Amino acid sequence: MTWPFRVGFGEDAHRLEAGRRLVLGGVEIGHAELGAVAHSDGDAVLHVVADALLSGLALGDIGAYFPDTAEQWRGMDSRVIVERALALVQERGWVPVNVAVVVTLDRPKLGPLRAEIARSVAALLSLPEGDVGVSFKTSEGLAPLHVQTRATVLLARVDAAPGVGGE
Ligand SMILES: [Zn+2]
Repeated sequence: MTWPFRVGFGEDAHRLEAGRRLVLGGVEIGHAELGAVAHSDGDAVLHVVADALLSGLALGDIGAYFPDTAEQWRGMDSRVIVERALALVQERGWVPVNVAVVVTLDRPKLGPLRAEIARSVAALLSLPEGDVGVSFKTSEGLAPLHVQTRATVLLARVDAAPGVGGE
C-alpha cells in the first residue's frame, strides 16, 4: 500500500511597481504603495497555494493550466486558479489537511491582516481558519521590490480520513 499522505510545496515571486494592485490570499492590501507586476491579479499567495496543491500529487504547476501568455487570463482573479487546482486534487480522491504559507515582503507590514488572509485562503480550500498558517518575513532590505511566497500543503487521501470506512 502507499501512504495516504502527500506533501506539496510551492514558491512564487512577483516584482513590485507603483500603480499596481497588491492582492495576497484574495485580500486587497489597500495601503500598499507598490503592487505586483503580473499577467493575472498577481496574488503571490494564491499562486503558491495552487502550486503546492498540484505538486503534492505531481500534477505539474499552474503555468501548465494557466499560461501567462493566454489573453483570457489577463487580470484574472487568482481564486479561480486555486479552485481549479483544488478540483484537480479532489477529482483524484485527495483533500488538503493544512497549509503553511510564508510571505516575504518589506513593506507594508502585513501582521494586522494575518487573520483575514488566513480566513480567505481557508474558505477557498474549505478548511477551518486554524488550518492555514501565515507567516510574514522581510527581506531585510535585500529585495524591497519583490514579494516572495512559499507554501507547503499536506494532502490526505479521502478514503483514509477519520470517520471514513465505518470507524
Ligand atoms: Zn505568481
